[in-house]
Amino acid sequence: MATNATTSAPFASFFQLIQRTLWALRQFAPSRQAPEAIQRTQQERLRALLAQARAGSAFYREKFRHLPEDCTDLQAFPITTKAEMMAHFDAVVTDPAVTRAGVEGFMSDAANAGRLFLGKYAVAHTSGSQGQPALIVQNQQVLDLLYAFQLTRGQAAGAGSAVGRLVQTVRRLLRPTRVAVLSSAQGFFPSACVWQHLPRYLHWCMRFLFVPANDPRLLDKLNEFSPSVLTAMPSTLELLALNDEELHLPRLERLITCSEPLTAKTRERLRHAFGVPVLDNYACGECLFLSNGCPTAPGAHLNSDWAILEVVDAHNQPVPPGQPGHKVLLTNLANTVQPFIRYELGDGVTMATEPCGCGSRLPRLQTIRGRTEDVFWLHIAQGYRALLEYPFQHAFDPLREVREWQAVQVERNHLIIRLESIPGTVVDVEAARRRLEERLRTTGWPLAELHLTLEAVPNLTPDEPTTKFRHMVSHTGPPADLDTEHMDLQAESTGSPCAGE
Ligand SMILES: [Zn+2]
Repeated sequence: MATNATTSAPFASFFQLIQRTLWALRQFAPSRQAPEAIQRTQQERLRALLAQARAGSAFYREKFRHLPEDCTDLQAFPITTKAEMMAHFDAVVTDPAVTRAGVEGFMSDAANAGRLFLGKYAVAHTSGSQGQPALIVQNQQVLDLLYAFQLTRGQAAGAGSAVGRLVQTVRRLLRPTRVAVLSSAQGFFPSACVWQHLPRYLHWCMRFLFVPANDPRLLDKLNEFSPSVLTAMPSTLELLALNDEELHLPRLERLITCSEPLTAKTRERLRHAFGVPVLDNYACGECLFLSNGCPTAPGAHLNSDWAILEVVDAHNQPVPPGQPGHKVLLTNLANTVQPFIRYELGDGVTMATEPCGCGSRLPRLQTIRGRTEDVFWLHIAQGYRALLEYPFQHAFDPLREVREWQAVQVERNHLIIRLESIPGTVVDVEAARRRLEERLRTTGWPLAELHLTLEAVPNLTPDEPTTKFRHMVSHTGPPADLDTEHMDLQAESTGSPCAGE
């Protein structure tokens, strides 16, 4: 059944409500389908997306002008970069009511966080790890899929017989899935805003708790809510595990981690502390439902019925499963308002070659190497730990006078953070420091072990050789004695945003 943009509107009938709920519950089935069947579905949806992009987007109409109207061979289509997408935002989107100025104006009012833009779109901005944040407009279909996959995929269900599935469906209706998302971000970061739009038709089989990771009543709220699924960054979960005596989560069935590298050791520690499987999700703001973590193996299963991920080398040539790619090209088959077609992302991904033991027949992303240049390896009591750009981003993005920031790792634990102010304003360096320290503390960094130098600078310049601006510059690189386990985890890390970003 096709989804449409009217699902959040009042339901015409009870029948429609049931129909939508059953649609969501049925999203389990494609994960057990033969690859050829998924491929056919994918191609049908691709054809529809290309037609909609051509009809409604001046940008894509022009970009695809040289290709025959009926061409659906994705590899023949040109690639789109984030810079292009942002430069031509108003021409990219297919709804003329959506404009860059309108979206930015909406997001400039913090009171709009948790509301839908124009009453129907979840809007967000991604991190600016490649110099510029991307604006993302998500339609209802994207939200529907995000929740439906959360409900049905990423669990080692039995053999998947028709009777088994029916039993599971009835069980879900009788005992709603209770998802708690702990976010270290608030405002218009993709996951921080999308998790506040649980579709009405899922209210009877899903309960949601969205809570800031630094909420002083976090433990009480979790105990009260009693989640069956707990989603957070690994460092947030590690902090929670330290409070295991005060935490009572008898319903807990699985943990979902995202945003930060999940080390083999952390995964094991969390599994032991909470006594449930730990699933490592890989997603990005441009496609929040991209994958669901595998319950039995590292990595995540790509939701390839609704997204296409091409693993390619530096020259955009396909890289076969088993070999690491240089980057990926994303096609989001559900977002028709802001189409992402062969959209370039800097993540190095390796697809698994073997079928997965968990029973899912969706392709598995075996290792996900984020943008390694955007990671600082710091040495703290427990060993090395990766610092990503999120704490900086969350600390500085809300500061209006900060035009740009850059963190430089000059020694293992010594970071110099440079802040460029918007012309005519002065950055309050001490206020910026307090915000950064607060963000680092929230994500479990021992401040006493870090040496942070903050300074205001007149302007920040791009990298000489690449001409790309970088937020994170390491002069030290990964340590030579980064142990084998940490090397693994670096390879298994996700560099993309989710609940934490
Ligand atoms: Zn699996």
